Amino acid sequence: MTRFISGRTPTTNAEAFDRALRVTPGGVNSPVRAFRSVGGTPVFLASGRGPYVVDVEGTEYVDLVGQWGPALLGHAHPEVIAAAHAAVDRGLGFGAASTGEVELAELVLDRLTLTGPDGAERRGIEKLRLVSTGTEATMTAIRLARGATGRPLLVKFAGHYHGHSDSLLSEAGSGIATLGIPGSAGITPETAAQTIVIPYNDEDALAEVFAAHGDRIAAIITEAAAANMGVVPPKPGFNRLLADTAHAHGALLIADEVMTGFRASAAGWWGLEEREGVPYDADLTTFGKIIGGGLPLAGLGGRADILDLLAPLGPVYQAGTLSGNPVAVATGAAMLRGAGPEVYEYLPRVAHEIADGLSSALSAEGVAHTVAWTGSQFSIFFRDTAPQNYAEAQDQDVFRFGPFFHAMLDHGVSLPPSVYEAWFVSAAHDATAVERVLAAAVPAAKAAAA
Ligand code: PLP
Repeated sequence: MTRFISGRTPTTNAEAFDRALRVTPGGVNSPVRAFRSVGGTPVFLASGRGPYVVDVEGTEYVDLVGQWGPALLGHAHPEVIAAAHAAVDRGLGFGAASTGEVELAELVLDRLTLTGPDGAERRGIEKLRLVSTGTEATMTAIRLARGATGRPLLVKFAGHYHGHSDSLLSEAGSGIATLGIPGSAGITPETAAQTIVIPYNDEDALAEVFAAHGDRIAAIITEAAAANMGVVPPKPGFNRLLADTAHAHGALLIADEVMTGFRASAAGWWGLEEREGVPYDADLTTFGKIIGGGLPLAGLGGRADILDLLAPLGPVYQAGTLSGNPVAVATGAAMLRGAGPEVYEYLPRVAHEIADGLSSALSAEGVAHTVAWTGSQFSIFFRDTAPQNYAEAQDQDVFRFGPFFHAMLDHGVSLPPSVYEAWFVSAAHDATAVERVLAAAVPAAKAAAA
């Protein structure tokens, strides 16, 4: 007789949640999934294909969560799945060097090498170390920055989220913003004191912090374009200023491209750098989400002289049993190969169709709102103007989001269950999927207005 194993797959979301609550804290393995900020029972998903996901009750939704980023080509893309199957058939992992890791690194480096307007070739990164999660990538990046500079302090921006390692949770976005908490218990004051948090897009705060602590700062870490407090792009030239300020003081710039990489910015192939007209020269860049094609894989890239400080060459330690897992690297490579220029041409178009339709529906109901953008990545704020920092992002009619979210869900559209998250479209979001979103937008706008 077993105490916990029922031997039956749940057939309703309520049953699934009930069972999850008995064996998992809060019933989920990542906090935002619990629907705490929107209320109600979380949806338990059973499958996904193209722009759709299906829950355990058999209800289909147009998905605008996109696995929180990786599903760039839609769910279960045939070429990505075929690559995963082929890799699985060769073995699930070896804990030894394998050629797929090299191929993925070559692919990433190649994609991030571009010819600038002056005709000169520019490499976004020179080397890449693969890890399993974005959290690991940013955690290693700051250890490496401290190891390279011999300095203790880190500068981050309020509302930016870089994963859940101790140094990076102060005033973070994503789940920390959703749950409305300033950080996390369990982090020592000594550790917290090593991270200086300043407002985003604030040149004066940046200058002040470097004037006061410049010779003790190892690095600035920034989302290449913030998207974990809703989408808040950097002011034009702000990333460049970060690089110049860091370098003038002997510190490094870490660009966190876990979310934006190969979606909104790709560290320079298109996107931010081109929009700003000047490369911003990050010393280290973190990737995740898309480069794993939907499996646990992330990466830390950057200048070769800094990356070579990692073990086994250098004194900065980092390792991982599952790092560079052969199934994950094969899946990631298939995703990147499938993401050609036509995908990046299509994504902003379909994203704008969806956002414009939603915006019209909200305007028709007189709901104050604005849509904020970085490339094809967008989110809706229930306020009149696009925020430039975390304080402004929080200053919105948050109470409207819950009813809006649930009306969308009831009409077959799955949104990120928090007002502080970006929405993700994919290359598989076709006219039918868009129509379904826009049809749902009408009752959702009414619910938001109520
Ligand atoms: N950095 C950014 C910008 C992210 O958006 C995230 C996750 O959403 C992370 C880091 C952490 O990545 P992971 O959830 O894979 O640990």
